[in-house]
Amino acid sequence: QKKLEQMMEEEGLKDEEKRIRRSAHAQKETEFLRLKRTRLGLEDFESLKVIGRGAFGEVRLVQKKDTGHVYAMKILRKADMLEKEQVGHIRAERDILVEADSLWVVKMFYSFQDKLNLYLIMEFLPGGDMMTLLMKKDTLTEEETQFYIAETVLAIDSIHQLGFIHRDIKPDNLLLDSKGHVKLSDFGLCTGLKKAHRTEFYRNLNHSLPSDFTFQNMNSKRKAETWKRNRRQLAFSTVGTPDYIAPEVFMQTGYNKLCDWWSLGVIMYEMLIGYPPFCSETPQETYKKVMNWKETLTFPPEVPISDKAKDLILRFCCEWEHRIGASGVEEIKSNPFFEGVDWEHIRERPAAISIEIKSIDDTSNFDEFPESDILKPTVATSNHPETDYKNKDWVFINYTYKRFEGLTARGAIPSYMKAGK
Ligand code: ATP
Ligand code: MG
Repeated sequence: QKKLEQMMEEEGLKDEEKRIRRSAHAQKETEFLRLKRTRLGLEDFESLKVIGRGAFGEVRLVQKKDTGHVYAMKILRKADMLEKEQVGHIRAERDILVEADSLWVVKMFYSFQDKLNLYLIMEFLPGGDMMTLLMKKDTLTEEETQFYIAETVLAIDSIHQLGFIHRDIKPDNLLLDSKGHVKLSDFGLCTGLKKAHRTEFYRNLNHSLPSDFTFQNMNSKRKAETWKRNRRQLAFSTVGTPDYIAPEVFMQTGYNKLCDWWSLGVIMYEMLIGYPPFCSETPQETYKKVMNWKETLTFPPEVPISDKAKDLILRFCCEWEHRIGASGVEEIKSNPFFEGVDWEHIRERPAAISIEIKSIDDTSNFDEFPESDILKPTVATSNHPETDYKNKDWVFINYTYKRFEGLTARGAIPSYMKAGK
């Protein structure tokens, strides 16, 4: 109220205008207080379809019963997370999604919990994820790669500016909106690394050269086929794939935000070549190859790519002391590979690959997932006896969150509804 009065004074508003502003402010306050009182729960949403699966739960397309708005709901099983020591990570995910009010980050509207699960209600991105896109296509063209890498540069920079390091940039976490533009999801790992990727998991491996000779001797076409065949399974496993993680992140010597640019270099390689540079038959072999990148980062001669592209990949994937971006994001933006990119307007201009959406709940850009019983308490409880999590519920305290804007923007048409008209 004080701030408003002061602002109106500074602007020298007339009494009538002041009256209108004051009443608008009061209206907003009423809505805010109403929102604060509402306790959202699972019963306020209708589940339409499973659209994604991860190590700790799944993502569903849902519709809020009263408004008809469509959202993506990420469901995380508490018992699984306690068991796998993921609690700090999920708090981080919620906190970052709340703080990062950016065009480049998936927007979160509400979060709540019940006995069994945590729920994140996010904006639904109908374009699907980059992993699914890469699995559908053999490779991307240099032009398409330029577009996606350029947008991801801006997205990563936007979270760096907030002081976060993502550390788990991979194609599964690059989502596409209704127009085909990039948004970052999945901040589960921003502040901690999946337990499996901490060094203990790989401790018994020496840094000897990789030994999966059958895989190494495949030609690039067979490698790409093998990679794509195993890829989705890797995404669902709790270990996840170490393919995109920078070598310094695995070491105990420390790392900084430059590790995200390494991951982007790996993704760029995968887009152009058809599989990532360190892919192997097992995560352990991949880890060895990442640690030995000086020998293992090579380009197959049978898949030609431009010198500019190759140079940029090698500027992303090198020792962090020499890595591009060390002096700031401008260094990346001015790299010759990005020649012609309109950095200021890239998000408003047409995407490299346009997305076709027939309705607000179109899921044609997602793979098919079988229905699960995650929302059926009887089944879930018998798998995880209550004692598993009952006494630990305090660790999820403060998880609940509401985005005020979700209410005030009620009149606005969400971007996904404008698509495909
Ligand atoms: P982690 O990678 O930490 O294991 P996860 O894989 O369980 O997490 P996400 O990566 O957030 O969870 O989501 C899994 C998949 O669900 C994504 O790859 C994507 O296909 C889909 N998805 C997630 N969030 C959204 C969203 N907001 N809109 C549309 N699809 C989404
Ligand atoms: Mg994921």
